[in-house]
Amino acid sequence: MPLYQSQDIKIYNSISGEKETFKPINEGHIGMYVCGPTVYSNVHLGNVRTFMSFDMIFRYLKHLGYKVRYVRNITDAGHLENDADTGEDKITKKARLEQIEPMEVVQRYTVDFHNILNTFNFLPPSIEPTATGHIIEQIELIKDIIDNGFAYEINGSVYFDVHKFNETNEYGKLSKRKLEDLIHNTRELDGQSDKKNPQDFALWKKAEPQHIMRWPSPWGDGFPGWHLECTAMSTKYLGDRFDIHGGGMDLKFPHHECEIAQNEAAKGESPVNYWMHANMLELNGQRMSKTTGNIVNPQELLSGDNTFFSKAFAPSVIRFFIAQAHYRSVLDLTNDGLLASEKGFNRLMEAINLLDGLKTSDASSINVNNWKQKCYDAMNDDFNSPVLIAHLFEAVKYINQIKDESATITTQDLEVLKTTIHNFVFDVLGLQSQSSTTNNSNKSEDKLSNIVELLINMRQEARANKDFKLSDQIRDELAEIGIQLKDGKDGTTFTVN
Ligand code: AMP
Ligand code: ZN
Repeated sequence: MPLYQSQDIKIYNSISGEKETFKPINEGHIGMYVCGPTVYSNVHLGNVRTFMSFDMIFRYLKHLGYKVRYVRNITDAGHLENDADTGEDKITKKARLEQIEPMEVVQRYTVDFHNILNTFNFLPPSIEPTATGHIIEQIELIKDIIDNGFAYEINGSVYFDVHKFNETNEYGKLSKRKLEDLIHNTRELDGQSDKKNPQDFALWKKAEPQHIMRWPSPWGDGFPGWHLECTAMSTKYLGDRFDIHGGGMDLKFPHHECEIAQNEAAKGESPVNYWMHANMLELNGQRMSKTTGNIVNPQELLSGDNTFFSKAFAPSVIRFFIAQAHYRSVLDLTNDGLLASEKGFNRLMEAINLLDGLKTSDASSINVNNWKQKCYDAMNDDFNSPVLIAHLFEAVKYINQIKDESATITTQDLEVLKTTIHNFVFDVLGLQSQSSTTNNSNKSEDKLSNIVELLINMRQEARANKDFKLSDQIRDELAEIGIQLKDGKDGTTFTVN
């Protein structure tokens, strides 16, 4: 029996504003779409946080035995500089500035995106479609929307008629906005735009002669609107109605609102059963954002080569830091927060390393099955990873007690404990048992690590020469300054107090 049959998941659905019991459209199968990056610059850690939240959700759903089709797109055309359909295409602009082809920009930053995600141990999505690979599907959608009377063509561009749509449907239901308020809050058109109303959005934009990324269409040469690509790609691979659609909070409006409108206008139904929005990563109390430049690139954090943080951090420590906050909470990236996460991560890994050597008894002093279900309950409650981690630390305490013989465990319970910890730590949270000192940076922590390694080697040599006085002296004097050596089957490791 697949695990999901015994676990009831609740998901906070942004459209209802409530936690709802999750029921997939087809039993045992889940279709999930997450808006991917616009590949015109290196991803920052804020982007990584959002994709990581959905990676963890994907991992958990798979762990429960669901067959998940996870579609995450690459936006390689059509994303203009601002949401009001004005400004240059972000990719074309970068290409112009760097004097390269737009597709070179796309290639460079897609490779960067994949490298970063690999470093952080992401699972690849099932399908990673590109906007430029789905121009025909987008044109077909526009034709349907025009035929249904919800879009108009003007001077080679096609716009979605928000006012017309709102007569029969509800524009703004996801972001809880009312069209009247939007009208009240938007500036009058400056005469530069062909739109009937400022709230209308582009489905197709006419390409000016200098615009390189262009495709032929019934309305002349042009390029598709950003919102349309996600509607085309999600429904092509997941059907007109599918289970989960995710993205960062900032995409709720207008991007996801427009996706709903396009789908309803073209197919007559709302595309998504559960809308999920991940909250923002902040730096210095401000949202991390490419536009403001308030960003940390993952590489800077991994190498320690930056002015914000005191040292380099391993990918799993950063993953752990992110998992310690619920995906719907704002998270502030701080040096102290990362240092605390590093400590916690190391403590968790040390406990996991002890698991194989634990002695078993005739009885267990805790109820392991009860603890295991608490781990599932945490994840079933809208993927509450911080609560899951709190339960994992309960297990750490227990493991240390068993080692000190102040608690006991049976062989059978030890198996349950080990499997559950492995499932949650490695499969669901996606952590890897790496030392936080494996980065190649010049910072003092890394120097310290090299020096201790040197002393460990000298101690080994002394032992090989049967000079136990010297080998003990190295161990004891290091202990005096707070560095504990531990001899294990894979050699000597150390911890710093
Ligand atoms: P973009 O490439 O700008 O379209 O962003 C890719 C994804 O990263 C989207 O889902 C955004 O919502 C998300 N994102 C952007 N900034 C942040 C941030 N500071 N924290 C978390 N997610 C973010
Ligand atoms: Zn999207």
